[in-house]
Order: sequence, then structure tokens, then C-alpha cells
Amino acid sequence: MSNQVNDVVAKLATLAGEVSDLEVVTDTAMVAELSHDIWMRALLERRRTGEGAVATAVVRPGCAEEVAAVLAWAERENVPVVPFGLGSGVCGAVQAGPGQVVLDMGKMARLIEVNKLSLTATVQPGMRGTDFEQALAERGYTMGHWPQSIDLSTVGGWCATRASGQFSTLYGNIEEMLLGCEVALAGGRLIRVPAVPRSSMGSDLRQVFLGSEGTLGVFTELTFRIHPAAENKLGGCYTLPTLVDGFEALRLIMRAGWRPAVTRLYDATEAGRNFAHVGDGDRPVLLLLSEGDAARVETEARETAKIVESCGGISQGPEPVESWLDHRNEVPTFESLVDQGLVADTIEVAIAWDGITDLFEQVIERSKGTEGLIALSGHVSHCYTQGANIYFTFVGAIGDDYAAAIELYDRIWETTLTTTHELGGTVAHHHGIGRVRKPWLAREMGEATEVLRAIKKALDPRGILNPGVLVDVD
Ligand SMILES: Cc1cc2nc3c(=O)[nH]c(=O)nc-3n(C[C@H](O)[C@H](O)[C@H](O)COP(=O)(O)OP(=O)(O)OC[C@H]3O[C@@H](n4cnc5c(N)ncnc54)[C@H](O)[C@@H]3O)c2cc1C
Repeated sequence: MSNQVNDVVAKLATLAGEVSDLEVVTDTAMVAELSHDIWMRALLERRRTGEGAVATAVVRPGCAEEVAAVLAWAERENVPVVPFGLGSGVCGAVQAGPGQVVLDMGKMARLIEVNKLSLTATVQPGMRGTDFEQALAERGYTMGHWPQSIDLSTVGGWCATRASGQFSTLYGNIEEMLLGCEVALAGGRLIRVPAVPRSSMGSDLRQVFLGSEGTLGVFTELTFRIHPAAENKLGGCYTLPTLVDGFEALRLIMRAGWRPAVTRLYDATEAGRNFAHVGDGDRPVLLLLSEGDAARVETEARETAKIVESCGGISQGPEPVESWLDHRNEVPTFESLVDQGLVADTIEVAIAWDGITDLFEQVIERSKGTEGLIALSGHVSHCYTQGANIYFTFVGAIGDDYAAAIELYDRIWETTLTTTHELGGTVAHHHGIGRVRKPWLAREMGEATEVLRAIKKALDPRGILNPGVLVDVD
């Protein structure tokens, strides 16, 4: 063991003395499991080198006070702490190494309260997404947040990464759902932002911690807006002459004020892959799903159909939407793809309607000729009045040449993010920054990066919270 690791092991003994019920895990295999998220590039790097960094220990607090005690100890002893939800992050925000401690939130997974009058739910941050929605459903409610990874992620992870669910066009993204929170700060203070319908008490501190990826504080309690479970659902599927017709249909739907929960527009490549049986199987496909009050849903489905048809859309009935609902979260793991000699990833960006066609076409055009690339495609899955996201997916064949795989990976990410930045979009729609987007943070934020750095220095002067992510401090 290195001196640094020995030192942290010795310091952990003092922590265990201070917080008697704290679970501390030092078994290397168990710690290794929780030392990283599922970032594809790090996986390729582990395959290439045959090794990966492993934290010194995992600690599992059972309550907010224990989280605070861990952070007080960490600041005093200068030990870096990496918060961990379920490790489903895809950007490398969790990459803990020797001398660092993983703060696993898995024991704090309790639903605290559902307030049926005020429509709020208060929950501990380590609760798994599916457990949370199931508990709400049993009481007749939903939060409406359905990321594809709902069974692989925690409610705290959603807030820390600014996540989006598949039904976001109606229910909003996580920042519209979070009403109040409790956060443990470096040094051990616990602060609360009260759960009120709205407040003009100066700056909105929720926004400081949302998306901060464990670098500014640790969520220890969350209160979300909830909704009565939908009374009715109506799905519609359409083929479109071109992708640009699909963009136009979505723009007009949003402009008219309709809010289908699901708005998904697949380019011809993805439509061919996922909906080969729909139409001739060679056209872009649009899925719309309206849900809520029966009368509103019927009106919305009828009016959105008229808009799509005015853009050349041809109705293909509800079946493709039902099939998507049944299979929407079935995706192969990155490990299984790499085992088959493939490298794949998704890159989600967002841009205003006036730039979306250019962005899509230029990313596809500039990526042509990339060594090993088999397919690069895209779909829209989150719509706004002003624009939408594009979720690019790429697949390459690399065999076991992991160095070549990393080259392909870097080239597609570089091309996609550079093009997005040049055209005035944002390089991150909902997976966050982690390590993969870190070089682009300053490019997109410019001088505002210094504001973020000043906040980091003020809240975490010793830099113990998830170092290496978002911004660096001296
Ligand atoms: C198959 C698949 C599909 C996905 N689909 C979606 C999708 O539809 N929408 C979407 O938004 N994302 C999606 N993701 C990405 C991922 O699931 C999200 O980023 C998710 O929010 C991460 O949650 P987690 O609990 O796994 O967090 P982790 O990966 O464990 O951690 C993520 C970050 O949050 C920090 N963190 C965790 N808990 C806390 C806490 N309590 N306080 C402070 N910081 C904390 C960590 O330090 C880290 O920086 C997908 C991932 C996969 C693998």
C-alpha cells in the first residue's frame, strides 16, 4: 500500500470512532465496484491498460448527520470524497482513486412523506428511481421523471446531474421538479432550501446545487413536485418525408402550447433500426404520447395530429408507441458491446429551432470517414418552445484494439461538441459534464467559469468534494 493510502486507512479509524454506526468498506473488490460510473471511455482505458483506479474505501452513511460528520472529517483530514448514487453516470463524474473515499448514498433510500394536499414527495437521496415511482404509483401519484436509467439511478443522482426523463416535454426536467432540499456542505454544515411553491428570497440556491455533480455539496433530502397519476394516455406514430419536416412539426406543436409528454423524432437511420416495420421503414419516425386528464388528452392528440399531417406526416397508428413504451429501457450494457468488439456512446446536446437542422447535418457530415465508424444517427427526445435536444448515437467496430477505439471515441465527441458550440447550442442537455465534457465547460461558459470557480472555492475551499469534476481550484 502507498503512504497516501495507508494514511487514509489510519484516518478512517478516527472517523469510525467519531461516527459509531457508519459502515466502512475496505474490501478491494467491493470498493472497486463503486469507484467508477459507467463512462465508456474509462471502460476502454481499463481494457487497454488492464487496470483501473480504485478508491481506498467506501463509507455508507445512514442519515444526514452522518453525511455531515463524514464531510467534517474529510475537510479536517484533507481526504477527497466522491459521492455515489448507483453509478449509472455516463460522463466519468465518478472516477475515485487511491487516497479517496467513496460516499455511497445507498443506505439513505427511504420515502419520508407524500403530501397529497400540496402534491409533494420528500425522499432520501439514495432511493432508486423505480422504487420511488412505484411508491408514488401505489398512492395514485407520479413525479413524471422517467429517465431510461430509472432502474439504475437514484433521485439524488438525478439532481446532481440535472437529469431529464422521457416524459419531460410535459412534466419538465429535474430542475422543474425539485422544490426543496437539504444539502451537507464540505466541513459538515447542513443547509436547507425550504419546499415552497415559489420564493423571491434572493438567488435560488437549488440551482447552485442542481447539476453540481457532487462538487459543491451532498444532497441529503429532496422534496419534489408530484402529480396525480394520469387518467388517460393516447399515443400516435407518424412517418415524415424528411427529418426537417419532423423538426417543423415539433416546433409548431410547442409553439401552439401543446405538451405531449413524449415527443420523439428519429432520423431515418434510427427509424430503420427501431421501427423497420413502420411505413416503408426508410423514413424518419415521430412518436407522440399525450397523457393526463381524458378531455385534454383527446383534444391534444387530435390537434397535434393535424399539425404533424400539415407537415407531411402520415399516421401509422398507436402500436409503435405501445411497443416503445414496453421496450424503452432495454439497452445493451457498454461492457457487452465492448465484449463484441464494438465501441458505442450517446451524446446529447441542445440548440434553438433555428440551428437544429444545421447542427444535425453538420455533425453527420463532419464525422464521415472516421476510421472504424459504422453508424452515427440521432433523435430528438426533449422539446421546448425555443428548441430541442439532439441525442446522437454512434457505433464503431474496433475488435480488441482499445487504443483505436479511444481514438474513434474522442474524434466523434470532439466533432459533435465543437460543431454544437460553433452553432450556438449547449454541449450538454442532460447527462452532465463529468470528465468527458470538462474541456468544453470553459468554452461554453467563458468568463462565467470564474463565477463557478468562486462558488467552488467558497463552498469547498480545500477541494475535498469530487475533485477533478466541473472546475478545479488551486
Ligand atoms: C442505460 C442508461 C440510460 C440513461 N438514460 C438517462 C436518461 O434518460 N436521462 C438522464 O438524464 N440520464 C440518463 N442516464 C445517465 C444517468 O443515469 C444519470 O446521469 C443519473 O442521474 C445518474 O444517477 P446515479 O444515481 O446513478 O448517479 P451516479 O452515477 O452515482 O453519480 C452521478 C453524479 O452525481 C453525484 N451524486 C450522486 N449522488 C449524490 C448526492 N446525493 N449528492 C450530491 N451528489 C451526488 C456523483 O458524485 C456524480 O458526480 C442513463 C444512463 C444509462 C446507463
